[in-house]
Amino acid sequence: MGKWESFFSKDTQLLKSSEIRDLLKLTEGRNVISFAGGLPDPSTFPVEDIKKITNEILESKSSQALQYTATAGVSELREQLVSFSNLRGISNITQNNIFVSVGSQEALYILFNVLVNPGDHVFVEKPTYLTALNVLRTRRPEFHGVPISERGPDLHEMERQLKNLQSEGKKVKLLYIIPTAQNPAGTTMYMEDRKYVMELASKYDFLVVEDDAYGFLVFDGDNPPPLKALDKEGRVIYLGTFSKILSPGLRLGWIVADEEIIREVELFKQNVDLHTPSFNQFIAAEAIRKGVIQNNLPKVKSLYKEKRNQMLSAMDVYFPSNVKRTRPVGGMFVFVWLPGNLNTTQLLQQAMMQGVAYVPGNSFYYDYSGTNTMRINYSFPSKEEINKGIEILGNLIKSKI
Ligand code: PMP
Repeated sequence: MGKWESFFSKDTQLLKSSEIRDLLKLTEGRNVISFAGGLPDPSTFPVEDIKKITNEILESKSSQALQYTATAGVSELREQLVSFSNLRGISNITQNNIFVSVGSQEALYILFNVLVNPGDHVFVEKPTYLTALNVLRTRRPEFHGVPISERGPDLHEMERQLKNLQSEGKKVKLLYIIPTAQNPAGTTMYMEDRKYVMELASKYDFLVVEDDAYGFLVFDGDNPPPLKALDKEGRVIYLGTFSKILSPGLRLGWIVADEEIIREVELFKQNVDLHTPSFNQFIAAEAIRKGVIQNNLPKVKSLYKEKRNQMLSAMDVYFPSNVKRTRPVGGMFVFVWLPGNLNTTQLLQQAMMQGVAYVPGNSFYYDYSGTNTMRINYSFPSKEEINKGIEILGNLIKSKI
């Protein structure tokens, strides 16, 4: 027990430092190829454009950019986000439907606090984004899981569970879902499945929190529209982020939702941090207005496609054939299922000793199942590291089966 632990609130005592995070910290400063993070390749940052925009803002808009601003965000950025959302097929919205947050992480934090009471029935994908799960856990909901296969979430299974809950008189409040280039699974839902989700949401009357963190990063085939573009009833709350398409360091994300929901989020954020940094919001607004993001995207996508290709070919060569994996058409991750009896948490220590790290997949399951799974990132390591790291990992897996 730490010296000050008895002073911490009950809620923060519940926040446990993740064992995995502690383990992965050991890789810092060592020569370990890391497939564990989720960082963009820094060569994708449009540094020169940001320099220019920053100078222009300081010259012409410093009195606004260095000043406090509205809680929902700088009007210039919200206006740009209306047209930027059109690129994802989201139309019929105004500035009043847009809310700017400190990364989409803050949006998740605020939304789950605004929406979820202890005991509420909440659906999540199995696996799903770890930090969304951790925020949800602090709300103490009753979790229900939709298993993911190589195709994406199993919606028939979800419907079966929804029917059961209904027959027990239990009402589902929301579904948190990442339909495109899922983190950690790397799956992208087909259009028919997207329509199916919307039918279920309408029939069973729940809200959908749609995390579109990788929606602009689909590099293969068609990029199906987000659920928000199919939403006729206003029940989808859409989250976007600048982290993967401009810079995560700017810490900018946004929500598109019904005005009533936006107003509630605004009340909550006033108590958190008043507003998202004005200066960064002006940078993002200009980056959209000048087409910096739109023009940079083809480069980002082709780089990640090359790295994805490198990753999959290395896996084809070095992984045994009874290892299952996803084939991402976008985003930054491949998800891997090892033969059932192998435990990826136990394997990690040995992998790290041999110079390669990944995230064991069970951290992404609300019930900590998925003990034979792992998430592998390909956006950050170089192509050489991808090849070498997968060779090491493949040999290690082969030695265990
Ligand atoms: N959602 C998903 C699915 C993510 O992968 C991430 C970042 N890894 C986030 C939200 C949060 O990102 P940010 O706060 O940088 O927008």
